[in-house]
Amino acid sequence: MDLTSPSPAARRAAAIARHLAAAAAPIPASSPLEPSCCLSYVPPESTERPAAFAPADLRLLLDGHDLPTRDWLFRAMEESPLFRSRSSRTGSRVFVAPDFNDGKEGQREATMRRIAYLNRRGVFRGWLTEDGAAAELRKLALLDCIAIYDHSLAIKIGVHFFLWGSAIKFLGTKRHHDKWLVATENYDIKGCFAMTELGHGSNVRGIETIATYDSETREFIINTPCESAQKYWIGGAANHATHTIVFCQLHINGRNEGVHAFVAQIRDEDGTVLPNIHIADCGHKIGLNGVDNGRIWFQNIRVPRENLLNLVADVLPDGRYVSMIDNPDQRFAAFLSPLTLGRVNIAVNSVYISKVSLAIAVRYSLSRRAFSIAPDAPEMLLLDYPSHQRRLLPLLAKVCLMSSAGNFMKNMYVKRTPEMSKDIHIYSSALKATLTWQNMITIQECREACGGQGLKTENRIGIFKSEFDVQSTFEGDNNVLMQQVSKALYAEFLGAQKKQQPFKGLGLEHLNGSSPVIPDKLTSSILRSSKFQMDLFCLRERDLLKQFVEEVSLHLAQGESREKALMLSYQVAEDLARAFTERTILQIFLEDEMNVPSGSLKEVLGLLRSLYVMVNIDESTSFLRYGHLSRDNVALVRKEVQKLCSELRPHALAVVSSFGIPDAFLSPLAFDWIEANALSTGSH
Ligand SMILES: Cc1cc2nc3c(=O)[nH]c(=O)nc-3n(C[C@H](O)[C@H](O)[C@H](O)COP(=O)(O)OP(=O)(O)OC[C@H]3O[C@@H](n4cnc5c(N)ncnc54)[C@H](O)[C@@H]3O)c2cc1C
Repeated sequence: MDLTSPSPAARRAAAIARHLAAAAAPIPASSPLEPSCCLSYVPPESTERPAAFAPADLRLLLDGHDLPTRDWLFRAMEESPLFRSRSSRTGSRVFVAPDFNDGKEGQREATMRRIAYLNRRGVFRGWLTEDGAAAELRKLALLDCIAIYDHSLAIKIGVHFFLWGSAIKFLGTKRHHDKWLVATENYDIKGCFAMTELGHGSNVRGIETIATYDSETREFIINTPCESAQKYWIGGAANHATHTIVFCQLHINGRNEGVHAFVAQIRDEDGTVLPNIHIADCGHKIGLNGVDNGRIWFQNIRVPRENLLNLVADVLPDGRYVSMIDNPDQRFAAFLSPLTLGRVNIAVNSVYISKVSLAIAVRYSLSRRAFSIAPDAPEMLLLDYPSHQRRLLPLLAKVCLMSSAGNFMKNMYVKRTPEMSKDIHIYSSALKATLTWQNMITIQECREACGGQGLKTENRIGIFKSEFDVQSTFEGDNNVLMQQVSKALYAEFLGAQKKQQPFKGLGLEHLNGSSPVIPDKLTSSILRSSKFQMDLFCLRERDLLKQFVEEVSLHLAQGESREKALMLSYQVAEDLARAFTERTILQIFLEDEMNVPSGSLKEVLGLLRSLYVMVNIDESTSFLRYGHLSRDNVALVRKEVQKLCSELRPHALAVVSSFGIPDAFLSPLAFDWIEANALSTGSH
């Protein structure tokens, strides 16, 4: 037998035999292999100092809730072969991961088999029928774990429960709940959510699908009047969904009452597309191929009057239109409310994907060496390079602060009251955009930090780039969401001015006091003080809000409309929305940090917070542009970043261990990557 043998098993056996023979053979006195210069993997746990704090304590803070439930679901996924790909065993470890080598049809069917398994294990029990904050948080925790496994699986489930299910629950009334909630929870029907059209995405108000009321038959006639009105990107539509929510312009007696949501069946129980419904596939995508996104045309299909989701507005049998909300803008906003839960969920999912990427990249950087800086010295660990620390450790700080922000958002959402709708909309928009954008930056940096190994699909990080890119577009395009944040802040400012009342809510109370004063000469201890950090972030937000209002007023004074004035002021608007979000994230984390007793965990939280602030200053031109910091002080901040990175370096392993991601959900690169690639393992 030799290595040219065509059989892989024979080749493996030959390789092992050669290896064993070489090991048994006496080494000649003059052997150039003495002492052995081969690398061996040394786990970071054996080289790093013991953790200064209990990673379990930090996990509790970062995960925030439902830790045993999460661990239960991780185990349930690990137990099933459905969650392993063909090459899931690498060396002595087994990893769970979808098989991205499958074609899109294979990936889609695998998604459905996994859903069926999770359904059998009771994962979705109560997702639509149990109310209360605890039940909602549990559901969000479970979906976090599912997204850590596979984005497609999470999205397919998210569309069914959070878009279709939430629309039935929150836009519908008892008759819709009775008919569809339990059937949805049990997966007896499969729902999708058809809002977007080829011609209109972010601008939902412009959609062209029409629902015309026929008072004689007491039905709505739903029609796609032109090609640009075809429903597009609808998750679940191409292969599996039996029902859809369809957003249409409601026409009654020749009058357009605006966008409303209807329920329509699109397939029968056997999966056959119903008459006068036409469905096409959106095709292969750069990621998320386990979701069957489709296009739908409705050819004058009829649905009963009762299929209008009528919590907000109704059509009486005789064709009279009634609504409890008179203002069409507010009515339209109410129809978009099912999107909020999806947005909260996407923001939090993105944080977990950053955690997986960082856990892999940091663990690799603690076992991978490159170059020695002195003759005969061992090669250096990647994470001992200050430049590598600068690349990874600020991302670690950001993900920890963003975890707190995600928990805050979830808690606010699950305890919502009607009065909180505006704040929830603003926070969820700001955080969805900021956290998903940051996730893409983090993934890219982690991919590069792993060198060529980062490109192997089995190492996860590389494939995350294409799998999670879509997060910045769906459920609200990030740029459009950030515009809404600055517009809302503008309205808050005008409202407070008009009513001559202090600011209340959204953390804007700081605007009621006098402007914070930033010392001319900064020092390391000032830079690290939470008071200075909050003062600086509040000062920036305050100034930018004032500038935004002034700039818009100038355009208005020149005769522009309000919409155009806001549009023309986009530069300061973008800076303002960012300032608002970064101040919010800092403030939320500070509140979490304050609840932690003194000790080493609190000290590490302080390092993370300071690094977050310093890096935000270092990476943003706005502090210099608007004169909030001098050139000298900005240079000082840069030095502080480096110091903070070196102080955080000894805690890096403990921080990523606190992310609570089981080993099987990381990748071979996070562990013995030499064994994983050995000829004898057959992983090649
Ligand atoms: C994989 C995938 C799954 C999806 N699933 C669903 C689903 O299940 N159901 C559903 O209904 N939809 C779904 N969507 C659609 C998604 O919600 C839309 O793609 C999204 O709303 C953006 O719309 P658009 O693609 O038409 O982009 P557009 O809205 O046309 O935006 C294009 C660009 O223009 C910019 N832009 C838009 N408006 C403005 C403005 N006022 N000022 C400045 N810039 C602006 C945006 O920032 C963006 O960069 C999905 C999309 C994808 C890719």
